Amino acid sequence: MTQISIIGAGLAGLALARTLAVHGIPSTVYEAEASAQARGQGGMLDIHDYNGQHGIRAADLMDGFQSLVLEGRQASRDVAPDGTVLADRPDDPAGGRPEVQRGELRQLLLEALPAGSVVWGHKTQSVRTLQDGRHEVTFANGARIVTDVLIGADGAWSKVRPLLSDATPAYAGRSMVETYLYESDTRHPATLALVGGGSMTAYDETAGIGLGVQRERADTLHSYAMFDQPLDWFDGIDFNDGPATARTIAAMFKGWAPELVALIADSDIPPVFRPLYGLPIGHRWEHVPGVTLVGDAAHLAPPDGEGANWALFDAGQLGNAIAERPEDIDAAIRDYEAALFPRNIETATAAAAFYPDFTPN
Ligand SMILES: Cc1cc2nc3c(=O)[nH]c(=O)nc-3n(C[C@H](O)[C@H](O)[C@H](O)COP(=O)(O)OP(=O)(O)OC[C@H]3O[C@@H](n4cnc5c(N)ncnc54)[C@H](O)[C@@H]3O)c2cc1C
Repeated sequence: MTQISIIGAGLAGLALARTLAVHGIPSTVYEAEASAQARGQGGMLDIHDYNGQHGIRAADLMDGFQSLVLEGRQASRDVAPDGTVLADRPDDPAGGRPEVQRGELRQLLLEALPAGSVVWGHKTQSVRTLQDGRHEVTFANGARIVTDVLIGADGAWSKVRPLLSDATPAYAGRSMVETYLYESDTRHPATLALVGGGSMTAYDETAGIGLGVQRERADTLHSYAMFDQPLDWFDGIDFNDGPATARTIAAMFKGWAPELVALIADSDIPPVFRPLYGLPIGHRWEHVPGVTLVGDAAHLAPPDGEGANWALFDAGQLGNAIAERPEDIDAAIRDYEAALFPRNIETATAAAAFYPDFTPN
């Protein structure tokens, strides 16, 4: 039987493995992290009916997915820096963008896989194609595998991508700083009231700063402070010193409503720096037999609320293509790539529109 190895147990890699498993096709996922619990998987994702949900359906997990949907979270609000509500869009359960916790979705996928499908603690260090056309993967722990089919689902800084393309992610001209307020219903009721039932955005275009907030399970408020600044602008901030960083970042929102500033100043975690990157618009490659990419590895774009959705979509498309032609997986990969490349132009162009300073490599 053809060996299929998937690098990366994010949403793309797991959804692909699960879709294959639905069709009785075994695969192995190699993940850098030590376990499923190694890193917090915070964040809410709205999973769209036109892309992400196709991937969930291909993985035959729609019922489990529905059970994770957080009610009321499709509400959204635009707020001015002084706290005035500019636009208030109520929840629409038929809106086609149900919200789930990323960690819970990942767990759903993990639990749906045959035991032993994910090999944890295997960080891919290098890959190469052997003379016989198979592919060798060397891991940081010294282990090594040789595989017939190699699929890079290893995100922004993919180690599989260099087999196919020289492209590297470029800075998008914007960074985010992530914070959390836990139990906001009792500890920060005024901030929760301003955020509303789902998500909230506030932006000062002139200053190039903003706040994006999501109301997660248990009324956790998960915020991203946004800064349209070059990377070196952040050099002076010591992100290892949580309280000092919270003070520094909060001070940048001087004059903003106190309920909004509290999202940063009172953060329950040390603020986390998240610079944003994207691959060239329309990233593509010459086909290499037995290798391909899914998700961010294929089309990393600065966030526009679609990346995880397209990652799930890719997984469903590739998984179904392989299931249709298990006797000729390379032809299935070609079919998948033929549809992926034009899609990459469209999706990356849409994402880049949100980032005027993004000049892809
Ligand atoms: C701040 C922010 C907010 C976002 N918000 C949204 C949103 O609201 N909606 C949305 O749809 N998208 C959103 N995105 C985009 C979304 O997070 C990504 O598009 C999505 O996670 C891509 O999934 P993936 O499985 O391809 O990659 P990843 O989620 O990056 O998963 C890759 C996996 O591979 C593993 N890995 C990496 N390197 C190696 C290696 N060398 N060896 C082995 N394993 C490796 C990683 O540990 C990880 O488990 C956001 C992104 C950011 C940065």
